[in-house]
Parts: sequence; C-alpha cells; structure tokens
Amino acid sequence: MKDKCGIVGIHSKDSSKDVSSYIYYGLHALQHRGQESAGIATYSDNGNGLKHYCGMGLVADVFKDNQIDELNGEVGIGHVRYSTTGQSKLESSQPFITTFDDFVIAIAHNGDIINSKHLRKELIDEGYEFISDTDSEVLCYLIKREYENSKTNDMVEILENISEILLGSYSLVILVNEDIYAMRDPAGMKPLVIAEKDDFYIVASETVAFDVMGANFIRDFEPGEIVYFKDNKINSHIVKKAKTCQKAHCMFEYVYFARPDSVIDGKTVYQVRLNIGKELYKEFPIDADVVMPVPDSSIPAAIGYSRASGIPYGEGLIKNRYVGRTFIMPTQEERELAVKLKMNPLVSELKDKKIVLIDDSIVRGTTSESLIEILKEAGAKEIHLMIGCPPVIAPCYYGVAMASKDELVAANNTVDEIKEKLGVDSLGYISLDALIDSIGISSEDLCLGCVNEDYPTEIPKDLEVETYYKF
Ligand code: AMP
Repeated sequence: MKDKCGIVGIHSKDSSKDVSSYIYYGLHALQHRGQESAGIATYSDNGNGLKHYCGMGLVADVFKDNQIDELNGEVGIGHVRYSTTGQSKLESSQPFITTFDDFVIAIAHNGDIINSKHLRKELIDEGYEFISDTDSEVLCYLIKREYENSKTNDMVEILENISEILLGSYSLVILVNEDIYAMRDPAGMKPLVIAEKDDFYIVASETVAFDVMGANFIRDFEPGEIVYFKDNKINSHIVKKAKTCQKAHCMFEYVYFARPDSVIDGKTVYQVRLNIGKELYKEFPIDADVVMPVPDSSIPAAIGYSRASGIPYGEGLIKNRYVGRTFIMPTQEERELAVKLKMNPLVSELKDKKIVLIDDSIVRGTTSESLIEILKEAGAKEIHLMIGCPPVIAPCYYGVAMASKDELVAANNTVDEIKEKLGVDSLGYISLDALIDSIGISSEDLCLGCVNEDYPTEIPKDLEVETYYKF
C-alpha cells in the first residue's frame, strides 16, 4: 500500500503556543487529498513529549470534542490519507512514529517511494520489524539506520544521505523531538509550500491550508530542498541530487488532484483549469445550447469553455456531496445505483438540449459511461464530451493511483472506439501542447508519464500499481 495524501507541519517560535488546532484546520483544508484516515503528532518540551492520534475516516470524524485539546504541543505534523483499492487499515494511517536513543520521530509522507519494496526487504534482512506496509515506516527505519551508521545526529546530513537512495516522489514533514524538518523530492513531483503566521512557521501540501489559518504564503519548496526552523528562522539546504535531476512537477495536480483555490509552483490551479476550458474550445469548437461540468473538479474548465465560446454555462448533474465512499459494487445494476447516489440529473436543464459536457479526465472510463447513460435518460439531445487531460495511456507510479495499463480505457482503445463505447456525439481530448500551455510550465519541468509514458525516474520491474477507489 502506498502513501498519497496531504501533509501539514507547524513549528511554533514561542514555546507557550499550541499548534494542534491549526494542524487540525489545515488538515480540513487538505481533506480532498485523502479521506481514508487522518492523524496528528505533536511534541511538547514541557515534559509531555510526543502525543499522537490517528483514526480512520474524515478529519471531522477522527478528531472529536477534546481530542484536539489533548494533542497540544509546540510543534506538530498532520496527515490525511488517500484511499485506494488497497487494504484500508489503521496501522497504515500516519504520522508513523518511531523512537530510538533520545529521538522521537514522526513522519508524514505524500508520494510514492517506488523502490520501497526493495528498501523494506533490505531493512527486514537487517533485523528491522515492520508493523505497517507504508513508505513512511521505511523512511523511519532508513533515518534510524543512517543515524547509527553515519554516527551523526545532524538530521540534514541524514536526510541528504537518504535522498541518495530514494527513488520516486516524496514531500515529507518529519517531527524529530522539538524540531520539524520538511523535504521535497529532488524532482519536486509533489507540491510543498511554506508560510508564516505570527508565532508559527507552517509547511503544507497546498496553499489552501494557509488560507484557513490566515497565514502568509512565503514560497514553494525548491525541488530537493530540506527546510528546518532551528533558532526560529527558516533554514534551507538543497540536496546534491537536485543538481543532477530534472524537475518533474505532477501535471495531474493541476488537472484534477489539487484544490482549484491552491497555488502550486506559481500557478493558480483555478486559472490553469479555466485555460484548459478555453483551449478545449479552440481545439473543439462545438455549437451547443449549454456547457456543463461533471462536478466538482471540472467546473472551472467548463466556465473557461463557456467564456471562450459564449455558450451559456449550466448545471445538468447535481452532486450529492455527503455521500462518502461506497463499496465496490459487484453488479452493473448496483454500480449504476452508486453513481446515481452521487450524481442526479437535472431533467429541466437537459431535456432536448445539445450539451458540451466537460470532464477533467477519463481514466478507466467507467464514470463517464454511467454519467452519459444518466444524461441520455434525462433526455439530452446531443452530448459532446470534452476532456481536460490528454488520453491517460499509462499508470502513475508516483502517488496518483490511476489504474494498471489494462484497465486504462485509452491504453487499449482509440479515441473513436472510446467515443463509440460511451455513445457520445463527439469526444475531444485536449492536446498535450494545449495542456502544457494551460499550465504555463515548460514540458521539461513536468511529469507527464501517465499521458506520454516518459517517466522522470527509472521504474523498478516488479512495481505494482493501484487503482483509485471510486463509486
Ligand atoms: P474513470 O474514468 O471512471 O476511472 O473516472 C475518471 C474520473 O475520476 C475523472 O473524471 C476524475 O474526476 C476522477 N479521477 C481521476 N483520477 C483519479 C484518481 N487518481 N483518484 C480519484 N479520482 C480520480
């Protein structure tokens, strides 16, 4: 099981200031990055040491009533975990904790260490006993091993050395007693940002976590940057590997994963999605009555298409936002029921209308298939499906659990075949060039592996991929 997710870390400059409630609110803002479990670890110098609590489910369900007050501390980290078809269990929730000598260590991780299977085996052979199947536990023991081998307790040196052997994507926040270290992988695949508020330094996966706290954004982490807050200031170190490593920011953060109101590597996600809609209109100018999104992730792109075309924006599918995770349904009938539970058609807006339907991406194609069926039943006259991501033809190995190649509809069918399968009047995927223009970052600095199979790292042969959990 891998670790996708959202992370937060807070350092208080004043030892009387508690960070736990800010971490809690930060995790709420990052809930879209993971709904399976949530956890917080804090440390207090006043004799209480480490406090830690994790639970399954949404942030609001995990931390009840006094739970947050009980987690008070001057430094702390938090984590929300993404759900995949992998086994879901409490032992895999984060932050992961370990202790050795005088150290108490807690780690929260977003990304996939793609050589973790190999590293885990190496550590097991050396006598380390694992209690979870997370990359975070591997990282904890790598730190311990490095501390023992290199006879240093300089955490920057330890992380620098570990970065030499890690392969894959990782944004990390690490609590080491009363200090916080945060690190972004040398290709900068996953986002990581830093802010300041009064007596606090804050790091988080996305800037939306700062907005809720009223913190002032300072900057993105550089690829390969380690930041720590000794002497109440921002200290920075760039690992050697970053100098020889090409940047590879995840394209899919802009297309789907991040919140639209976040700013990642200088680009506002909402603006990128508006651009995607405009570019889709340039490439596929359809004459229609209405432009509709598949809510929520496709709303900005649909607005972009509507603005560029002058075709009115409308809603045809109403999302029930309170339906959480549903079980994988064994029969087609039950699967359709699950989709209908989440999306209800607005017949008055759909009947006899020519519709441009915008979706952010097609992965396996099952969602679009059910939605098109629903729209047709509601009486839509024509459906033109426009997709804000080029055909997903290859798995993601770096933390966006997509699907294996044989499950990816575009890996096994032409666009025309997919159009037939879905039964739409036309199907348009944004071109790769137009997507890159929409993001506004050079293609050389993006990871586009899922759409062009050009991965920024080597891929271990025995690596397994996961499918995300939906409906
Ligand atoms: P499907 O084609 O049925 O696999 O579903 C594609 C839809 O799921 C897209 O419209 C996205 O909104 C959403 N989606 C795409 N990738 C992911 C992912 N890794 N995790 C969760 N949802 C996703």
